[in-house]
Amino acid sequence: MAKSFIRTIEDFTCKHCKIIVKGDGYTNHCPDCLWSMHVDVNPGDRLHDCGGLMKPILLDKKGDIYVISHKCEICGFIRNNKIGNNDNFELAIAISNGSV
Ligand SMILES: [Zn+2]
Ligand SMILES: [Zn+2]
Repeated sequence: MAKSFIRTIEDFTCKHCKIIVKGDGYTNHCPDCLWSMHVDVNPGDRLHDCGGLMKPILLDKKGDIYVISHKCEICGFIRNNKIGNNDNFELAIAISNGSV
């Protein structure tokens, strides 16, 4: 399944923990608390008007890549995102253990 990816470089403020996240064009979640926002239809396009906070609910490993699932608090939409190098990996592990 081919998905278009539009790279958008922008800084944003995490609506959950309020830190300023340095955008690198790929990050769509906060590296500190790992919460995301429901703003994309396709990754990076910022075309979705839901705008809900997306809670990190699950950590999965696909080969060498860790994938975190986010669930929108407003509409319940679930999206999988790759964990980034700067992400709070200890928290991701805690989420996968169900301790958060
Ligand atoms: Zn945050
Ligand atoms: Zn939503």
